[in-house]
Amino acid sequence: MQTITVIKGDGIGPSIVEATLRILDKAGCDFHYQYVDAGLAAMQNYGELLPATTLDAIANNKITLKGPLTTPIGDGFTSINVTLRKKFNLYANVRPVKSFTGTKARYDNIDILTIRENTQGMYSGHGQKISADGEIAEATSIISRESSANIVEFAFETARREGRKKVTALHKANILKSTSGLFLKTARAVAEQYPEIEFNEMIIDNACMQLVMNPHQFDVIVTTNLFGDIISDLCAGLVGGLGMAPGANIGHDCAIFEAVHGSAPDIAGKNLANPTSVILAAIQMLRYMEMHVIADRILLALTDAIASGDRKTRDLGGNAGTDQFTQAIIDRL
Ligand code: ATP
Ligand code: MG
Repeated sequence: MQTITVIKGDGIGPSIVEATLRILDKAGCDFHYQYVDAGLAAMQNYGELLPATTLDAIANNKITLKGPLTTPIGDGFTSINVTLRKKFNLYANVRPVKSFTGTKARYDNIDILTIRENTQGMYSGHGQKISADGEIAEATSIISRESSANIVEFAFETARREGRKKVTALHKANILKSTSGLFLKTARAVAEQYPEIEFNEMIIDNACMQLVMNPHQFDVIVTTNLFGDIISDLCAGLVGGLGMAPGANIGHDCAIFEAVHGSAPDIAGKNLANPTSVILAAIQMLRYMEMHVIADRILLALTDAIASGDRKTRDLGGNAGTDQFTQAIIDRL
């Protein structure tokens, strides 16, 4: 039996992760779950944000389903998500957005897959310094040819496997000549190995406007860490908000599936959160495990529940709670 590491997370995490596990069980998944803590929950129980038992479970079971984690604000706390991505070299962050009928989204028929380099660039935490007088702050952005090639290859391989037609590389090589320049040059070289897939490049600021005005031109997007983070939230906004946005962090050895959003402290504990982000992350997880039949079954039930308007959460324009919406999906399964 497959064991999956489950981190319920902070804020709305436990409620949306538990909702997802109920759905997985109802859909016929025969998983064994190893529950471990990270973030605030781990701080309270073990006095550290990422206890060794948690790291061991992620490494041993290879597959993790994770709720959002809160990193305490203040000196000395590096983001837990960033730490996990670096520790397990989860170099590819895969963030799909798809339109669902029955949401309040601005567009229909959106289907965009953002693939974000997850370990380098401005988010890697290199060279962080603040001068003694507090006047000057400094950080270093490092981009390697190898990591750029890996992420662009990952994007093209995913496009090929999913039958997608076009890969767009987002960059700012006209200004960030060294870092973004190396990424773009590498992307062009990799693209030549995939002549059957259209390759397109776009400057990040123009891409933001294009995504808002004409999003249907995009298929797969590949980009560096910082741009990918921002763009994937923009894409979530195209399909009805953060409650609809899942993400997978994929490495060579293990993978962590999660919601794109944070712990949403403003609605935590109120039975208001939309669990769709984690449900979609679980569907990504099932596809990663080649369990496509169950993935399709859950997607169908979820799609129908949202489309019919039966017990929708508030962010989707309804007035049901997390539990009622989850039950609407389970009833369909
Ligand atoms: P964090 O510091 O953990 O990132 P945050 O305050 O930035 O927390 P997010 O979780 O990023 O909050 O959410 C941003 C906004 O989107 C909040 O208003 C939140 O209520 C809303 N939101 C996020 N996730 C969901 C969800 N699953 N369902 C409904 N609303 C959500
Ligand atoms: Mg946030």
